[in-house]
Amino acid sequence: MKINENYLNLKDSYLFATVGRKTAAYKAAHPEKDVIRLSIGDVTRPLAPAVIEAMHKAVDDMSRAETFHGYGPDQYCYGYDVLIDSIKGSYAKKGVTLSSSEVFISDGAKSDCGNILDIFSEDNVVLVPDPVYPVYLDTNIMAGRKVIFADATKENGFLPMPDESVRADIIYICSPNNPTGAAYTIEQLKKWVAYAKKMDAVILYDAAYEYFVDDTVHARSIYQVEGAKECAIELCSYSKTAGFTGVRCGYTIVPEALIRGGHSLNRLWARRQSTKFNGVSYITQMGAAAVFTEEGERQIRENIDYYRRNAKTIADCLDELGIWYTGGKHSPYIWLKCPDGMDSWTFFDYLLENANVVGTPGSGFGKNGEGFFRLTAFGTHENTERACARIKALLKK
Ligand code: PLP
Repeated sequence: MKINENYLNLKDSYLFATVGRKTAAYKAAHPEKDVIRLSIGDVTRPLAPAVIEAMHKAVDDMSRAETFHGYGPDQYCYGYDVLIDSIKGSYAKKGVTLSSSEVFISDGAKSDCGNILDIFSEDNVVLVPDPVYPVYLDTNIMAGRKVIFADATKENGFLPMPDESVRADIIYICSPNNPTGAAYTIEQLKKWVAYAKKMDAVILYDAAYEYFVDDTVHARSIYQVEGAKECAIELCSYSKTAGFTGVRCGYTIVPEALIRGGHSLNRLWARRQSTKFNGVSYITQMGAAAVFTEEGERQIRENIDYYRRNAKTIADCLDELGIWYTGGKHSPYIWLKCPDGMDSWTFFDYLLENANVVGTPGSGFGKNGEGFFRLTAFGTHENTERACARIKALLKK
């Protein structure tokens, strides 16, 4: 028996553990201090009433033989029509037409970020932005793939563009981005689509934060770019759209037009899912199906507006201090340059000790994150305002 030695090549995921440990140690040493966390990537607003009502009804359905549901329908890898139709309806509003067979219901974007790799050869070269959501890198290291990086820097606004001299087979794009909050415009994505087609590559487009985009210039789906269905898979989630981090539901779009090596990636993915996955619970799918109803959408937008208001509070604070940042506009994340040339962990300690505010050091998301810092808009508005008042008092020159 041999283990998968690729796992030994993973770096310890010490970022959030260290943030937690340092915060706990500070609180233990200073129990009287009121520490505010602007580091959380999890949502705090409760589920929308329309979702709760749909889930209650689904629970009742499960209590009667006539309305009980076991395994989901086979036809679309256990996704119920009502949910698939609502996702198609939400794409139609973005000008994107999907067929039911292209929509795969999942238990969240994180699982599918890793699972989708099953359908690709291990020989592929993978292009990952730096800094970025660590799951892209780690899942490929686990499979032993070669990973190269697209540098996201202050100079390119943390939105790297394709470099035609670099060869890649699998390309990750996360927009709006975690951790930088930077979001590509539809025009910018056209260049990535053209590059992917030239390379015969496949883009894995993570749209987990698309509901935070608040204009029609920035992309909400890669399929807003013509021809993207021939080169892109899109991963999305109800986690940040509708507060489903604890409920677990997402969807992955694998277009019928996506063919590589003469084979349909849609068929390969359907085969993979029907073999290794038994679907998302009926109760969860019914709750998710309520998200894009008229009532549900109005309610989730209220929650998103709440987080947007927090993001604006943080952005206004940084504007007042003259600190450079990206994000905050089409994203719940604000990515700032640490003041006075501090490195990410030095600024973490400085903010924790002097303002009792916790953020996330940018260096934990990749080498280009060094010297940067992530704040999130997922806290309560009251705490966000209090944290910003403290940051202003500390950093005002
Ligand atoms: N993709 C990105 C970019 C994320 O930041 C996250 C969660 O933080 C996910 C995917 C995971 O989403 P899910 O809760 O659907 O697994």
